[in-house]
Amino acid sequence: MPAHIIDGKAFSAGLRARLADEVKGLAGRGLVPGLAVILVGEDPASQVYVRSKERMAREAGMASTTYRLPAETTQAELDALIGRLNADEAVHGILVQLPLPAGLDPHRVVEAIDPAKDVDGLHPVSVGNLASGAPALVPCTPKGCMMLLRDVLGDLTGARALVVGRSNLMGKPMGQLLLAANCTVTVAHSRTRDLAEECRRADILVAAAGRPLMVKGDWIKPGATVIDVGINRLPPEPGQEKGRLVGDVDFDAAKEVAGAITPVPGGVGPMTIACLLDNTVEAACRMAGVERGR
Ligand code: NDP
Repeated sequence: MPAHIIDGKAFSAGLRARLADEVKGLAGRGLVPGLAVILVGEDPASQVYVRSKERMAREAGMASTTYRLPAETTQAELDALIGRLNADEAVHGILVQLPLPAGLDPHRVVEAIDPAKDVDGLHPVSVGNLASGAPALVPCTPKGCMMLLRDVLGDLTGARALVVGRSNLMGKPMGQLLLAANCTVTVAHSRTRDLAEECRRADILVAAAGRPLMVKGDWIKPGATVIDVGINRLPPEPGQEKGRLVGDVDFDAAKEVAGAITPVPGGVGPMTIACLLDNTVEAACRMAGVERGR
């Protein structure tokens, strides 16, 4: 039987609608969650992401401000802006869009953000909180993957989970979240010896390597739940301007074996911004000492 196709687009729309309701309730009590996004330079993909973040934050009823700075911005100027936003009580979440232009140090920038406002979950304090099981602002894409997994599987206790990729943004926090959900976790990477065999053992397979169609259908354990984080553009076919977007998993083959699988596009991708909004509401509530309704 073909796999259940996990509809991240619909889940994300539902989550954003629930957040809009929650924000309306908070605003009625005088708390309007505020998100500040900083974009340095002209990277076209970053411009698209930042516009979507601003639009969706506004649609959810939040206060959203984007700071567009020239590529020549100095580290001191960027530090000064982050310092002002840290001190601004109307701002609950601060996100610096990465990658930064050459000459700016992403580690220093992330560390300058007040951990209480670190809605990207990349500050060392957030990373430490997640690793030690303390309440944490969690990186948005792995958080979105967990929401989809819980929606499909409910309790994940005891499942054998494999994460392919060990980046700070995705693979490592994903491993931590699965561990916290009582999975038995393996994290694979480019030096893993027999990736196919590791995959075949996994009840839950999260692919985040950035390698188009790398995970083959016969690498999937029958009935497994497959979360494909990869977003890769193939070279264009003759006569086409743009190549097709594909994940890290060979979807057509994998869906014949898996129990459930996310498509690309329309799976994990739409979850990331929804989780950014969720983190912003979370940060605002924590700062105001308000308990969230769910
Ligand atoms: P990185 O390039 O930072 O990390 C890739 C990881 O995959 C590394 O740990 C690398 O191993 C591992 N890897 C690379 N090749 C192989 C291989 N052949 N076998 C096993 N492991 C391999 O990428 P990100 O984590 O930032 O992103 C991963 C993918 O997810 C990308 O396609 C990206 O576009 C997508 N993405 C999607 C998001 C969304 O849906 N909103 C958000 C974030 C990312 P090593 O450490 O050994 O080099």
